[in-house]
Amino acid sequence: LSYGIDIVTGVSESLVETERTRHRRLREQGSLDREALIGILRAGFVCHLGVIIDGHPMVIPTVYGLSPDARTVYVHGSVASRSLGARPDTEICVTVTHVDGLVMARSVFEHGVNYRSAMLYGTPRLLAATGDKLLGLEHLSEHIAKGQWAYARQPNKKELAKTSLLALELEEASVKIRSGGPSDGDSPDAELPVWAGVIPLHTSWGAPEPADDLKPDIDVPPHLASFGR
Ligand SMILES: Cc1cc2nc3c(=O)[nH]c(=O)nc-3n(C[C@H](O)[C@H](O)[C@H](O)COP(=O)(O)OP(=O)(O)OC[C@H]3O[C@@H](n4cnc5c(N)ncnc54)[C@H](O)[C@@H]3O)c2cc1C
Repeated sequence: LSYGIDIVTGVSESLVETERTRHRRLREQGSLDREALIGILRAGFVCHLGVIIDGHPMVIPTVYGLSPDARTVYVHGSVASRSLGARPDTEICVTVTHVDGLVMARSVFEHGVNYRSAMLYGTPRLLAATGDKLLGLEHLSEHIAKGQWAYARQPNKKELAKTSLLALELEEASVKIRSGGPSDGDSPDAELPVWAGVIPLHTSWGAPEPADDLKPDIDVPPHLASFGR
């Protein structure tokens, strides 16, 4: 890294704060670390996609993928999906949230959640050319289950025509992270006979379970077997 710019990818190591992404409340939980943003995006695959449809806000849970160079986020779905029918001038907001624990304080007011969250803003590109679409879908698929793009049958022309794919560059984004215990330890409430601390939340994959109709001679491929370990 040199002058805050990664000389290989050309991506700035810090997020540039904009009027929109400037944290107002609980600013100490905000971060301008691009690596933190990338870590949050790599750790998940479900986002909430916020759009304005016919003048009304709509927030849709959907999967996303991050490109290997960590510059672009992809969301996809049916061409009939209204949330994906973005026009070139339509901005979206994408959020990704990981909950790490419940923060139990002595007072109800001070209870909280440990989390890592990211918000992305921008005008996405609707990918229409077959090559762009296939590459974007590969990035999305590989983000969720590495190795599956090459393993499974890839989309044919008909399936591609039924699929909308939006690409959003990671240009305007914010990160917020809360960790640690309750913050009422130095208040008079610390004297109360009330348990305080953190209840961590861990999520993990189980071992792959075969489909009921799976041909008996097909084993779990290594890239999927590794999920449950
Ligand atoms: C799982 C979870 C639970 C939460 N529960 C609560 C709750 O119960 N009450 C509460 O007040 N807050 C809660 N928060 C924090 C909440 O997300 C907001 O950060 C906070 O409420 C400040 O909101 P605001 O409208 O004042 O944002 P502002 O500070 O005005 O937001 C300014 C900008 O900061 C950025 N920003 C704000 N919040 C986030 C975020 N979470 N992640 C990334 N960027 C962000 C955005 O770019 C936004 O445009 C929770 C967060 C998470 C992830």
